[in-house]
Amino acid sequence: MIPLVDLGAQLATIRPEIDAAIGKVLDQTAFVLGPHVESFERAFAEFVGAKHALCVHSGTAALHLAFLAAGIGPGDDVITAPSSFFATAEAIALTGARPVFADVDPGTLNLDPERVRSAITAKTKAIVPVHLFGQTADMDPLRAIAKEKNLLVIEDAAQAHGATYKNERAGSMALAACFSFYPGKNLGALGEGGAITTNDDAIAARVRLLRDHGSPKKYEHTIVGYNYRLDGIQGAILSVKLTHLPAWTEARRSLAGRYTEKLQGLKGLTLPTDAGHGKHAWHLYAVRSEHRERVFRVFADAKIAQAIHYPIPIHRQEAFRDLNLPEGSFPIAEEAARTLFSLPLYPELGHEKQDHVIEAVKKALG
Ligand SMILES: *Cc1c(COP(=O)(O)O)cnc(C)c1O
Repeated sequence: MIPLVDLGAQLATIRPEIDAAIGKVLDQTAFVLGPHVESFERAFAEFVGAKHALCVHSGTAALHLAFLAAGIGPGDDVITAPSSFFATAEAIALTGARPVFADVDPGTLNLDPERVRSAITAKTKAIVPVHLFGQTADMDPLRAIAKEKNLLVIEDAAQAHGATYKNERAGSMALAACFSFYPGKNLGALGEGGAITTNDDAIAARVRLLRDHGSPKKYEHTIVGYNYRLDGIQGAILSVKLTHLPAWTEARRSLAGRYTEKLQGLKGLTLPTDAGHGKHAWHLYAVRSEHRERVFRVFADAKIAQAIHYPIPIHRQEAFRDLNLPEGSFPIAEEAARTLFSLPLYPELGHEKQDHVIEAVKKALG
């Protein structure tokens, strides 16, 4: 079986380092936040090129707290992409604000700045670009619109650890940015995890309070907050894995380049669009085809995982039925949901397995 992501293969390459890191946390009984999380936060802030990194329990918690710290709440509209994982819009809704969608660029499937402009109303408070599949959104025009209309920008960088935009790094390009360390992400914990990065001292201070019961000091609570703290073990594991991330990202880039080279020109298949404005982190290699079901039948025989990111655009989810956004509201995102599928991609995939995938795609569409 060729999985979409092989977490076991990656773990095997660094197992002694991971065991040692966990051992240290156990020896020190530093189970919640503490020195291992703090040292990861320093290293991750430096990696991202941001002044602060604050770890939380998940990427969703990171989004929720970044929005709250930025003052987003009931009565606000927040513009984001309908083509993303559900959590982006979910976290907007958790604050009491309303997620408002703008259709995406047909190539990159990232927010289309001109469509964002058209979606702005008197209630709009913020824009949340998602760096989908590891490619940064087109930040310059988005930031220009935000500046002109006095809106906040918060990045959803959950899929974009190590991606760049021109001379900037994902996670350093807006008021705040949110990362997920879900195991399958480019930098994954061995459990749940997430982080907020920011250059803004006030946002950092607010997130620090909110993630830990609004408590600046044990048993003193200045605001009502959450328990969104990260485990010490995950902090220690993430520190180990961060040292390998640049090499893993290079391996992803090389494999993605190889897919593109070998599948170029195949009829009935649309390859991912590289906007060329920075370094793509290749979280996913997502292609499109009208004949997805035919490809999946061949994949089933060839024992290749079938994956769709994402089969239902967020505005069509049952959970958002009250937004009243019928089929046809965002045709580009809807068309992508109908035709997208992701090819196996992880640093340890290797050329032999990749060739097996390439042959299966060619067999189905050739
Ligand atoms: C994974 C992901 C999230 C949520 O992160 P969790 O750690 O699973 O809570 C949010 N946004 C995007 C784009 C994601 O891919």
